[in-house]
Amino acid sequence: MIRSEVDRFWSHVVKGPEPEDCWFWTGAISDDGYGRFWIRRQAGQQAVRPQRYAYELATGEPLPMSTLLLHACDIPICVHATADLDVSHVAPGTHRENMLDRAQRGRYRNRQTLRLGDLPRQVRVQRSLDLRTVILDHGWQPELISAALLGVELTHPRLF
Ligand SMILES: [Zn+2]
Repeated sequence: MIRSEVDRFWSHVVKGPEPEDCWFWTGAISDDGYGRFWIRRQAGQQAVRPQRYAYELATGEPLPMSTLLLHACDIPICVHATADLDVSHVAPGTHRENMLDRAQRGRYRNRQTLRLGDLPRQVRVQRSLDLRTVILDHGWQPELISAALLGVELTHPRLF
């Protein structure tokens, strides 16, 4: 990995204060609600998934194209990847059972009932965009983050 590229990657990520918190991607978001990170390779410019990039950084190994990464936290723009899959929010699809288990045990505060991945695409995209806006405008504010994830109108006065 190229140092400046890695720095640029992390400059787009906002990490929550607690060890189990999400790390949100605040760069470009695709029309499927997932992030997009542009890198330059010999073949030219290419867009990669931030969660895959983060996972490769964490493990130090390239991830085969055929390997699907899943989110235990079910938040498409989360890039909290660690080599320890008991802690990581993203892991290869082969660990699906473990991840569902963890999600059901409610290890992820304020998102046990959320299934963002199951929402219609347009809704999912809007949630990702709203979440990014909240993070960029206000930093890590749990109430605003929850509201964005739940699709609550963010201009509602009671939130402030
Ligand atoms: Zn997460």
